[in-house]
Amino acid sequence: MEYATARNRMVESQLISRGIKDPRVLDAMRKVPRHRFVEEALVSQAYNDHPLPIGEKQTISQPYMVALMTEALELQGQERVLEIGTGSGYQTAILAELAEKIYSIERIRPLSVKAQRILDELGYFNVVLKVGDGTLGLKEEAPFDAIIVTAGSPDVPQPLVDQLSMGGRLVVPVGDRYTQSLMKVVRVKEGITKTDLGGCRFVNLLGTHGWKE
Ligand code: SAH
Repeated sequence: MEYATARNRMVESQLISRGIKDPRVLDAMRKVPRHRFVEEALVSQAYNDHPLPIGEKQTISQPYMVALMTEALELQGQERVLEIGTGSGYQTAILAELAEKIYSIERIRPLSVKAQRILDELGYFNVVLKVGDGTLGLKEEAPFDAIIVTAGSPDVPQPLVDQLSMGGRLVVPVGDRYTQSLMKVVRVKEGITKTDLGGCRFVNLLGTHGWKE
C-alpha cells in the first residue's frame, strides 16, 4: 500500500474516529512520513495502531497518543516548544509542522544522532536537538509556550512548570513505572490548573526529576 494512503487511513480510523479534531494536527499526521522514523524491518507496521521499538529499549509512541498529546498543546503556529524524549524524532517532526521553533532533549545520544539525521533529510530546520537530562528543562531557552514529555514520570517535573510562559501548556504522563495518566498542566495567573486526559503507558522518564535508574 502506498504510504500516503496508509497515513490517510490511519487518520480516519485511529484519530478522527477517537475524537481528534484539530485540523492542523490531522494535516500534520497525514503529512509526516512515520515510516522513515522506524527500523527498516518494521516499516510495514509503521502506520499500525500501536507503539513500535526504536532500539535502546525505547519506543515510538502509538499514532493516537502522538495526536492526543499534540492536540492538547493547542499550537497555532507561533510557539516555542520544548519536547522531552526525542526518541525517533517522529513527535518532533509533528511539532515542527505546527509551531515556530522546537527544542527537543534526549538522554540517549545514539537516538538523538539518528533522529537528527532523519529530521535533516526531511528538511525540518526549525528543530534543535540536545542530549541531556530533560527533567531539568532548558533554562537558557525558557520560557516555552508548550512543553511535551514523551516518557512516564512519577510527578510533574517542577522545572518544566517553572519554564512555562503565562498561559503555557505542559503535557506529561504521570503515574507509576507501568501505567500513567496523561496530565495537562496550564500556567495561569493564580498558579496552575491540572486536567487528567486519561490513561496511558510510556517508557520511564529517567533523571533528576523523574525515576532513578
Ligand atoms: N517522542 C518519541 C518517543 C520516544 S520514547 C518518539 O516519537 O519516538 C521516550 C524517550 O524519552 C526515550 O527515547 C528515552 O530515552 C527518553 N528519555 C527518558 N528520560 C529522559 C530524560 N530525563 N531526558 C531526556 N530524554 C529522556
